[in-house]
Amino acid sequence: MIKIGLETHVQLSTKTKLFCNCPVKEDEPNKNICDVCLGLPGSKPRVNKKAIEYGLKIAKALNCKIMDKIVFSRKSYFYPDMSKNYQITQYEIPLGVDGYLELDGFEVKIRRVHLEEDPAKLIHIGGSITSAKYVLVDYNRAGVPLCEIVTEPVFTTPKEARKYLQELENILEYLGVYVEGSMKSDVNVSVDGNPRVEIKNVSGFREVEKALQYEITRQKNLLKTGGKIIQETRAWDEDMRITKPLRTKETEEDYGYIFEPDLTPIHTWDVEIPELPIARMKRFIETFGINEKFARAIVSDKEYAEVYEKLCEKYDPKVLATWFSGPIKKELNYRDLKFRESPLTYELLDDFFSAVVSKKYGDPALKLIIRRMVDSGENVEEAVSSLGMNETRDLEKAIHEVIVEHKKAVEDYLKGRDEAINFLIGQVLRKVRGAGDPNEIREKIQKVIQNGY
Ligand code: ZN
Ligand code: MN
Repeated sequence: MIKIGLETHVQLSTKTKLFCNCPVKEDEPNKNICDVCLGLPGSKPRVNKKAIEYGLKIAKALNCKIMDKIVFSRKSYFYPDMSKNYQITQYEIPLGVDGYLELDGFEVKIRRVHLEEDPAKLIHIGGSITSAKYVLVDYNRAGVPLCEIVTEPVFTTPKEARKYLQELENILEYLGVYVEGSMKSDVNVSVDGNPRVEIKNVSGFREVEKALQYEITRQKNLLKTGGKIIQETRAWDEDMRITKPLRTKETEEDYGYIFEPDLTPIHTWDVEIPELPIARMKRFIETFGINEKFARAIVSDKEYAEVYEKLCEKYDPKVLATWFSGPIKKELNYRDLKFRESPLTYELLDDFFSAVVSKKYGDPALKLIIRRMVDSGENVEEAVSSLGMNETRDLEKAIHEVIVEHKKAVEDYLKGRDEAINFLIGQVLRKVRGAGDPNEIREKIQKVIQNGY
């Protein structure tokens, strides 16, 4: 039996840091720092209200019980990435507790959602974290607001953990409160009731799935050969695709949490959140009469869903859904692109769907056209031209050639073997490079054959 729990950190998209006015942005090392984020003597933190608001939105979206009053605490540790020797975080009273995230099939229990400051960035020179010769410290990141989302150990497979993180990221995108690509998880895994092992700081969701697959196999093999699993913290090496030991696990008590004396308790307030993916999915099913699988695929990308909805004013929602959840989504997924990262726009898809309803092209041609559009940002006319489809030869001529070249198939068809005509249609489509409507070609072939060729 495998038990997996996740502690996921995301960076909130505020302009300034969590406890000072230093800007949050890419810069030369150690440029955006002040006495507060360095923790110089006499400096006092002041909380960034926007960061609290964003945290509250996340807690609400994850159906958490929101605390009336929250406090910050000091988590003491000694490490160069934290010049104060403590991190300001929330321990005793977080923003939210006891929430859940609705996944296809089950509810993921959320233990807590809290805010904390990011430590500095350590740059390891001459090796990895376990082998570097020396380390450089950049305090620009120190004090950047993070939200940590902790699940109960509810996942039993790496795939479930990945699906959860994907959905979590989708929700954060709908909320518009986080910095894309900032997701990092500490992954806890225990196999068959053995001590749990933590893998620190794994980026994104694909890496989490891979790190877990590796770690579970490692532990199972260790157990099989009579080894013992110890409670420890490991690192995921993205290049080597393995986990490596970092340190044996400390407990929460080792951090000696105390309430942060420089910050007073903060009263929370009710925040508004936009429509979330699950709600949008349900609305699409009801409004447009599309099935759940299609709706789920469409809402998994915020802007994509918005364009779908806008196009529903002009085109049949079901036809749109077939293309949106199928061929177009496949092209985007294959290139690992969100809609807004791709060259596609509302206007281009509008152009594409007017070509779909015109019936000027068959499905195989349309699939080639949309693939070209995703690659190049061309409109339908340009894509057709790039693909050489407008040089297609006369359809009638192609049909006659095919009928002459494939006499056996024609005879089979005349003997009543219907599948032979599909073969002939395919041959015609090949000749016209996909630029034809299969139904139209079918009728034309039938006519030619019946009239005696
Ligand atoms: Zn600062
Ligand atoms: Mn944390």
